[in-house]
Amino acid sequence: MNVEWLLLLLPIAALSGWISARSHYKHQRDSQKNAFNPEYFKGLNFLLNEQPDKAIDVFIKLLEVNSETVETHLALANLFRRRGETDRAIRIHQNLIARPTLTPPQRDQALVELGLDYMNAGVLDRAESLFLELLTKPSPPLQAYKQLLRIYEQEKDWPQAIEMAKKIQTIEPDEMGQIIAQFYCELATQHRHATNKAFMFLKQANHYDANCVRAMLLEADLHIAAKNCRKAIKCLLHIEQQNHHYLEEALPQLLTCYQQLNNLPSFEKWLNSLLTRHPNLTSARLMLTQVTQLQHGSQAAQNYLHKQLHSHPSVEGLHALISLGEPSNPVLVPLIRDITSTMIRHGDRYTCQHCGFSGKTMHWHCPGCKRWGTIKPTEIHVSALETLLESSS
Ligand SMILES: [Zn+2]
Repeated sequence: MNVEWLLLLLPIAALSGWISARSHYKHQRDSQKNAFNPEYFKGLNFLLNEQPDKAIDVFIKLLEVNSETVETHLALANLFRRRGETDRAIRIHQNLIARPTLTPPQRDQALVELGLDYMNAGVLDRAESLFLELLTKPSPPLQAYKQLLRIYEQEKDWPQAIEMAKKIQTIEPDEMGQIIAQFYCELATQHRHATNKAFMFLKQANHYDANCVRAMLLEADLHIAAKNCRKAIKCLLHIEQQNHHYLEEALPQLLTCYQQLNNLPSFEKWLNSLLTRHPNLTSARLMLTQVTQLQHGSQAAQNYLHKQLHSHPSVEGLHALISLGEPSNPVLVPLIRDITSTMIRHGDRYTCQHCGFSGKTMHWHCPGCKRWGTIKPTEIHVSALETLLESSS
């Protein structure tokens, strides 16, 4: 429904709220004899003259705050916030909170809503102090914890974010472990030069989410920096048990480690066995091509990939094959190479499993839906060729 139409419905809400409030208090207010407040007609007049903003001001004033009209006030303020008119929403919520007649739960709700207004307006410090105030109540609303978590995430204040997430976990255990693990990974990244501290944070990450791939990758990085390739390899190979879709992220590090240990044959053997377990891992197939080239030369790599492309066609595979090959046709080969590189460039390699956000770089925190650990690497297959061509033309 059009927002303007919603606004036109508000005077009706105002009127019904006002009437119900009147009937409720009519015994106490015998002095007021008029059935309708003339202000109501003034508001209607503004509406009829297409001055909705002025009309709304009148209706807000009209809508007396009491236990029966609180919901209408909250709905009205919500509507303003959604329209981006945060100032108005703040005014209504402050007006509500100032009323002594509100019940404690109503006041808490109004405080949460006011905090959300501040969040919307980007005044995070005000929102923070408001939500912190709510935490001092005997039974703080869950929203207060959740909004504080959002604030600390935005401020990248990971220790505070962890504290809030742990509190939420006691109320809502689902999914919080994964998020807490990501926060510990953020801390480990910040402290990656203080190795012991970083290891401690990664241990925590693993404690909260045993399948945290990011913690494994970071731990491998620390081992590589400490020239301990064997330990790094152990971490990286473990990712297959955690979630094999993320192995692509580990392959370059694995190559570095096996090269430093001068043990490419072991890597080759592992890649071969990996491909029997997960035949669709294009990234592993390309890595195996690279390892074959390093060990047995370009011709062997070409032969391997050429054979593989028949059973598992992929744009990246084709691109790699052309890059490996001698340009047998000086016109055709650069052309095909251009096409394949364009397709690879335009293809989004990472997709959020939750909101569908896709991009070319790995994000552990989805920029779309702000969830943690929902983005996965996606393989580009020939089947996606048409869409890729459309998006690049
Ligand atoms: Zn997302």
